[in-house]
Amino acid sequence: MWGHSWPIGREGRGVSDRPDATESARLLRQRIEMGARDLVLDSITSEEALRLVESARRSRTMPAGPRTMSRPPATSGPPVTSGPPATSTPRAVSRPPVASGGEPDRAEVPRPAVNRTLPVVLPDGYDEVRALAMGCTACGLSESRTQVVFSDGHPTARLMVVGEAPGANEDKTGVPFVGAAGQFLDLLLATVGLSRAETVYIANVLKCRPPGNRDPQPAEIEACSPFLRKQIELVGPDALLAVGSFSGRLLTGQEKSSLGRLRGTVHSYEGVPLVVTYHPAALLRNSNWTRSFWEDLQLLRGVLDGA
Ligand code: SF4
Repeated sequence: MWGHSWPIGREGRGVSDRPDATESARLLRQRIEMGARDLVLDSITSEEALRLVESARRSRTMPAGPRTMSRPPATSGPPVTSGPPATSTPRAVSRPPVASGGEPDRAEVPRPAVNRTLPVVLPDGYDEVRALAMGCTACGLSESRTQVVFSDGHPTARLMVVGEAPGANEDKTGVPFVGAAGQFLDLLLATVGLSRAETVYIANVLKCRPPGNRDPQPAEIEACSPFLRKQIELVGPDALLAVGSFSGRLLTGQEKSSLGRLRGTVHSYEGVPLVVTYHPAALLRNSNWTRSFWEDLQLLRGVLDGA
């Protein structure tokens, strides 16, 4: 973890003695503003860090209804490297929408009749696009999923985080990044003043869980990516953060590049600044990458500060 004397004792203190996620983020931001670039949470365990954000997540509410949040226009920021133009070949299957949320038993999830009418171009209405995704059967993952995982966060957010694919928890809940990795991501985003409730929108390259959490297959990415591209177009973020190699390669168009080569620079996706970094699940497996993630977050913060 990061190198910084954290004002929390590991032992002998009750939960009520610990600061909440907001206070934790404030302390980290204070360190950043003082010029600290090397932060180590040497008095807090990763479990404690995750608990800090859990309470904040519980009280978080998803915005609903009209998309009225205004954003400042993206005009400037750090120089960006230009990526190849994104292709847009929407392929989606129209089917009656399936309600998301809850933790349904797989056998109890209703399976609406399949309508294999494929729209040539996805509609421009956010709710219509979401409804199409919720009933999509354009690839084989529709056969094994519990439910489609479309997005989380604010639909007119300044930052859009793009992950890889739903895992088991996401498949059950219908919400992306809900496990430990998601909580860790929330904590890291909070350190630069970002939250799903107000300023972050999260989606994955694939909307349905690959069986056994295997890697996405090229045909699945090709089938599903029109949804992601339309989400980016409709959300209109000031910046994109691709977490993991699959989203990084897709959005930069550098299909052969390693994650290490994609990190550390600001790319451009259709004119939107794009930073690529590790998936938070990888950070939980290997804490040596946390420093790199932190550096990428500072790069991202510079982009947003200039937007
Ligand atoms: S992964 Fe994407 S393309 Fe495949 S069925 Fe799910 S929503 Fe459709």
